[in-house]
Amino acid sequence: MYGLSRCRLREREEEVVHIVWIVYTFAQDVTTVGMVTGNTKAEAFYSMKELLKETGGYAIIDGGLATELERHGADLNDPLWSAKCLLTSPHLIHTVHLDYLEAGADIISSASYQATIQGFEAKGYSIEKSESLLRKSVEIACEARNTYYDKCKDDNNKILKKRPILVAASVGSYGAFLADGSEYSGIYGDLITLETLKDFHRRRVQVLAESGADIIAFETIPNKLEAQAFAELLDEGVVKIPGWFSFNSKDGVNVVSGDSIKECISIAETCEKVVAVGINCTPPRFIEGLVLEIAKVTSKPILVYPNSGERYDPERKEWVENTGVGNEDFVSYVEKWMDAGVSLLGGCCRTTPTTIRAIHKRLVSRRSLFSSSSSSSHH
Ligand SMILES: [Zn+2]
Repeated sequence: MYGLSRCRLREREEEVVHIVWIVYTFAQDVTTVGMVTGNTKAEAFYSMKELLKETGGYAIIDGGLATELERHGADLNDPLWSAKCLLTSPHLIHTVHLDYLEAGADIISSASYQATIQGFEAKGYSIEKSESLLRKSVEIACEARNTYYDKCKDDNNKILKKRPILVAASVGSYGAFLADGSEYSGIYGDLITLETLKDFHRRRVQVLAESGADIIAFETIPNKLEAQAFAELLDEGVVKIPGWFSFNSKDGVNVVSGDSIKECISIAETCEKVVAVGINCTPPRFIEGLVLEIAKVTSKPILVYPNSGERYDPERKEWVENTGVGNEDFVSYVEKWMDAGVSLLGGCCRTTPTTIRAIHKRLVSRRSLFSSSSSSSHH
């Protein structure tokens, strides 16, 4: 039984030197098991690598947030979507994060997908309030992790295990802010340039990164241009934590804009601070083929968190046409995805803690297989 915490000492004069301490706590004892000294590159790689090592090579990302918030009674009919709950019902967000941790998720994503300074401002909030709402999204996830750790202590049935948990700060695309479905078309028009996108995201990403998140989840990236913008923001040193890049596809071949998935992944590949790449919010039936293409151009861990297979109608602002991919079918893909090279699995829209619990069940056997053939020490 252990917990994970990190202290970082950095920035001595001009030289950026980072020291990352990974501390595992055994009951009352504290044992330092790892220390890495280096620049931000080393730090960025360290935490994702460490998580994957501790989880036997396969880690679990949580499932859909909005779906669950609605199930708990939240009304998300708003351009801010799940971010609306930051204002109206933060306790529900906390509950959903906790549900996912108890279902076996190793990574939980903050309710900031559609939370942008510009979006809050359009609702009449000041910049200060907007930034505090962004921070709040990450803080709620961190609090849920603490609540989970507390519950581990009191769990007499020993089902809950104290383990490393990463908090990912979710960053949706510019199209998600527009709330007109353009994150599913990737068509932003000629007026939107690389610089426009960087300026749009810069402060938001910075605030999220400084709120205690372990990683930034750049998600549902619909085109090459926005991937380039995120990569340049990371390279600028705007944030000190790593990120992952996740694209979406509606044809199983390209990303939604029609840009080549390989070209999109190649942009992430050249960015040292990107520690995982993959696909989200895409029907399960398209995932395997996309992963096989991605594997050709990346050396980074591959992640997938597909949607349930239903289709989002941007005009009706709802999910339609259930193609019959229920939890059972979704989970039947898991082995195939891992065989294709996936290391991080979870769910996006319309997936639930039941989906994550089922993925966890599949992974447990795979993990034990991995650890029995590995010489790495595991507590
Ligand atoms: Zn989704």
